[in-house]
Amino acid sequence: MSSNIFIYGPCSVESFEQMDQVLSLSLEPNPWIRGGSFKLRTSPDSFQGLGFETFDIIKQLKRKHDFKFVSEITSSDQIDVFGKHVDVIMVGTRNMYNYPLLKSLNQLGKTVILKRAFSATVDEWLKAADYIPNCEVILCERGIRTFNQKTRNTLDIGSAVWIKKNTDFKIITDPSHASGNKELVIPLSLASVAAGLDGVIVETHPCPSEALSDGHQALNLDEIQSLYKKLQRINHG
Ligand code: PEP
Ligand code: MN
Repeated sequence: MSSNIFIYGPCSVESFEQMDQVLSLSLEPNPWIRGGSFKLRTSPDSFQGLGFETFDIIKQLKRKHDFKFVSEITSSDQIDVFGKHVDVIMVGTRNMYNYPLLKSLNQLGKTVILKRAFSATVDEWLKAADYIPNCEVILCERGIRTFNQKTRNTLDIGSAVWIKKNTDFKIITDPSHASGNKELVIPLSLASVAAGLDGVIVETHPCPSEALSDGHQALNLDEIQSLYKKLQRINHG
């Protein structure tokens, strides 16, 4: 899927073995692999991520596998460690409005995935991207709050297509957080790519029922492989 962005991996990095299993799938050379390090969870009692320990695991994995590591930064204190160990930096929905954090990313000059705040207008989201002129910014529509109660959020594919047609930004979707339901992840991913968007980021876990965060919305390794093949068929017609 050369021209498309396909990012997969767990909500949170949990162990070397877990990430090694994800990486052993090797769907494409040098894949983009996600994995949370500092998690912003709704409840303080939920798993908060391995924090700095994540990067020791990533360092070991890089000796064994070629991959680009994608992880979410939550504070400007993490700039140095993300500069060293993270290839593609994600800003999550809760931090889209954190302008000091956005400005601090300019010193790294890396690719940044800027997620839409769940209540942000398209204009607010695009203005947030303007705070990071020194980085390649990829926008990510991850679902917004609406009156719909059947899915965790509502994937605003219309706004994503509007952005694709009216700006120069690359734009992907996150069907996992948008739906909160693994049954919807494949159809929403297909819809995103069929609509002409630049790709998807999909939560994937070797054993979703044992995941420490967001297991209910994670695909297993067979399912992510099947999604990858389906997306290739859309791309190559
Ligand atoms: C995530 O990607 O794990 C995440 C927490 O996403 P969001 O910021 O979109 O909720
Ligand atoms: Mn998650």
